[in-house]
Amino acid sequence: MVQDYGIFVGGGWRRSKGKRLETRNPATGEVLGTFPLATKEELHAAVKAAKDAFEGWRKTPAPRRGELLLEAARIFRSKKEDLARTVTGEMGKILAEGRGDVQEVIDFLEYAAGEGRRMFGATVPSELPNKMCLTVRLPVGPVGLITPWNFPMAIPGWKSGAALIAGCPIVLKPSSLTPLCAARFVEVLDEAGFPPGVVNLVTGAGPVVGDGLVAHPDIRAVSFTGGVETGRRVYESAARKMIKVGLELGGKNAILAMDDADLGLLMDGVLFGAFGTAGQRCTATSRLIVHRRIYDQVVDELVDRVAKLKVGDPLDAAVDMGPVASPEQERKVLEYVDLGRKEGSKLLAGGTKLRGGPYDRGFFLAPTVFAVGRTSRLAQEEIFGPVLSVLRAKDYDDAVAIANSVRYGLSSSIYTNDLRWAFRAMQDLEAGITYVNAPTIGAEVHLPFGGTKETGPTDTREAGTTALEEFTHWKTVYVDYSGRLQKAQIDTARLTGG
Ligand code: NDP
Repeated sequence: MVQDYGIFVGGGWRRSKGKRLETRNPATGEVLGTFPLATKEELHAAVKAAKDAFEGWRKTPAPRRGELLLEAARIFRSKKEDLARTVTGEMGKILAEGRGDVQEVIDFLEYAAGEGRRMFGATVPSELPNKMCLTVRLPVGPVGLITPWNFPMAIPGWKSGAALIAGCPIVLKPSSLTPLCAARFVEVLDEAGFPPGVVNLVTGAGPVVGDGLVAHPDIRAVSFTGGVETGRRVYESAARKMIKVGLELGGKNAILAMDDADLGLLMDGVLFGAFGTAGQRCTATSRLIVHRRIYDQVVDELVDRVAKLKVGDPLDAAVDMGPVASPEQERKVLEYVDLGRKEGSKLLAGGTKLRGGPYDRGFFLAPTVFAVGRTSRLAQEEIFGPVLSVLRAKDYDDAVAIANSVRYGLSSSIYTNDLRWAFRAMQDLEAGITYVNAPTIGAEVHLPFGGTKETGPTDTREAGTTALEEFTHWKTVYVDYSGRLQKAQIDTARLTGG
C-alpha cells in the first residue's frame, strides 16, 4: 500500500501544503510512498521546533540523552529485517547490504550512547596556585543534517547520533530519492521517546529545503554528505552565516596492487570494493592501479571474475549486484561508458544496460571495467556507479603518484605482503582512510571517517569521538579558589629568570 507521508515537526507528523514527490523502487518501478515538497514556512516551523527544544535538550544530562539513543538502537535491532527491506526496496542495494545499512545505525547509536558518559574534556595544571583549568564540550544549538541516498539510514544515523548525544536538536533533510528510509528512521526515533522538537524531518527539493536549512538564521551548524558541487554551495552559504559546517563529499578511491600481492585476496577485495552497492559508495573502489609485473595476470583474472557476477533482484540472496538507484544514475553511468570509448579507453567488461525480462522494469547495468590512461576523465572523475578503471604502474612510487593525482582524498588501499610498501603507503597516500590488504570500503563506526582534499575541505570526521566536533564547541573554564586576585603571566612567583 502506498502511504502518503507528512513532515515530522515538534514531535508529530503534520500535513504539508506543498506539492508531492513520489519515491520508487529502482528494481521494479513500483511507487513506495509520496512525500511533501515542504514549503519555506514548513521549514521555518521545523527549525523553530528545534530551536524551542534546545534549552531543554542541552540541559538533559548526556547519559540520559544516551539512554534514548540506546532505546532507539534496541528498536532498530528489533526491526532490522523490515527496515533493511525498506533500504533495499527504495535504494536498490542487495539485502545483505541493506541489513548492513541498518546495522551501522545500531552500531553508531550504541557507540554514541556510550559517549554520553565520556565526552572527555581535559583538566590541565594552572600556572598559578589554587587554580584549576579545564575544558568542556557544549552543544552549538539546533543543527541541519543533509543526507544523500546511497546510505539512506546509516548516514542519517551517524549524523543524528552524534548531534543528539552532543545536545543538539536536529532538522533532517534527506535525499529526495530516499525519503521513505528517512521517514522510517524518524519513526524509530519517535518511538524511542525523544522530547518534541528534538527530532524533525523535512522532505523536499535540495535547492529549496536544503538551501533554506543551511541559510536559516537559527541553524547553528550543518552536517552535509553529498556531491562536491552541492557541497561547495553549502560551504559558501554556511560561511556567509559564519557557522560550523561538516562536509563529506565525493571520492575516486584506488586500490594499489603490488607485485607481491596475494592475488586471490586482491580479486575478492576489488570485486567487493568496485561493485558492492553497484559502485555507489563514496568509498567505492573506482581505480585499480596495478604493478606492471602482474598487470596482465590481474586483468585476465578480473575479466573472468566480473563475467561471473550475478546482477538482478536485490532481494535474491544469490544476486551480487542490484540496480543503480535512479534513472539519473543510470544515464550518468552510461554517459561515462560512452566517454570512455570516445577517450580511447579499452572496454574490458560490461559497458551496457541490461535488457529483457525483469531488467526492463529497473535500472540494471553490467559491471564494467575499462583499461584507462592516467589523465583520462575515467581515471580522474567520480562516476559513482559500477565502473572500475584499471591503470598500469611502473613501480610503488609511480602507483602512489597515480593514486594521488585526483582532486579527491577519501579512501585508499594497498595489497602487498611487504611491510615496507604497506607502511610507506600509510604515509604517502593522500586520503582520510588507508586499508592494507582490504578494499577501500568497510569503515567501522568507532573510528573517524572522512577525507582530505575536495572530499573533506572542512577536515571534519564523522563517526568515532571526532563526530562530536561538528556539533560542539569547546569552552575553557578557569576556577580560581585562592581567594585573591591572581594574574596569569604577571605576578606568578617564578622559580627562575626575572
Ligand atoms: P547531492 O549532492 O546531489 O545531494 C545530497 C543532498 O543535498 C540531498 O539531500 C539533496 O537534496 C541536497 N541538496 C541538493 N541541492 C542542495 C542545495 N542547493 N543546498 C543544500 N542541499 C542540497 O548528492 P547525492 O544525493 O546524489 O549523493 C551522491 C554524492 O554523495 C556522491 O558524490 C558521493 O560521493 C557523495 N557521498 C559522499 C560520502 C562521504 O562520506 N564522503 C558518503 C556518501 C555519498 P535532493 O535530493 O532533494 O536534491
